[in-house]
Amino acid sequence: MTKDMAQRDRKRILIVEDNLDVQELLYQLLEEEESYELALAETGYEAIAQAQQIQPDLILMDMSLPELSGWEVVEQMRQMPMLTHTTILALTAHASQADKERATSVGCNAHMSKPFEVAAILEVIEHLLTS
Ligand code: MN
Repeated sequence: MTKDMAQRDRKRILIVEDNLDVQELLYQLLEEEESYELALAETGYEAIAQAQQIQPDLILMDMSLPELSGWEVVEQMRQMPMLTHTTILALTAHASQADKERATSVGCNAHMSKPFEVAAILEVIEHLLTS
């Protein structure tokens, strides 16, 4: 196996989060998993640019972002051929059924409410990356 192929075996995760405390928490959690390669974005525009550039296997998407919301970001990504099938996990502050339905309707693959439990989010991420 070439070095490039070995590196591509690491799953790329793009963390989109404007709250730097939460961003740091997610980064530290996932950094311990050596099979993950991480990237960060703080705004919707940055998220779209990063996603196009690095082609992540999974995007952790905070839906409450300034200017361009996570909802709008996901809708835009789904219109882009290279991001149509990228796995997206929506993170919202509300656990309402309406939020879950909205996450599905804009094209998210899964939804999780904040605050999340560490074990629970790691399990969902692992599941999304292997299914
Ligand atoms: Mn936010």
